[in-house]
Amino acid sequence: MKKAYARRGVTPEFQAERFVLNPQAHTLTCPRGQRWVYQQAQHDRAGVRQHVYGARAADCRAWASRPQCCPTRQQGRTIARTENSPEVAVFLEKMQTPEAQKICRERARVAEFTHAWLKAKIGLRQFRVRGLNKVLCETLWAALTYNLQQWFRIVWRPQQFTAPA
Ligand code: SF4
Repeated sequence: MKKAYARRGVTPEFQAERFVLNPQAHTLTCPRGQRWVYQQAQHDRAGVRQHVYGARAADCRAWASRPQCCPTRQQGRTIARTENSPEVAVFLEKMQTPEAQKICRERARVAEFTHAWLKAKIGLRQFRVRGLNKVLCETLWAALTYNLQQWFRIVWRPQQFTAPA
């Protein structure tokens, strides 16, 4: 992000983190004390919203700081503030805990090969059915197939090649 600002000629004292959010008034205050008005909310991706604030070009024209703040825009500059849905916020908070990070680190060792096998060998890249019960069924069939294949490989096949005592 800092590189993008540098490319556009925005100096560090006018980057987005130097703007102050006023939650009650739903406005942003720029480093020169100008109030930016709320323009719109946009859906970015699932669970994330972008709140867009904008400067009034007429307000900014009077300021000598304009070349460092919005050098490439004739209209007023805009800034989008990202807000997670409550569910995503709870999830992200949970993922900061040591327990969650431990599980996450183990994921590669425990689940990656299984996922890759299910995708590559039986083509389970997306479910072929709809509805929770049907999806659960398809998942269980896939898990059973994987477990049987592992059992053949690790238990059954070596027994075939073991000479009887
Ligand atoms: S150009 Fe406008 S938004 Fe930027 S610092 Fe100056 S008054 Fe604030």
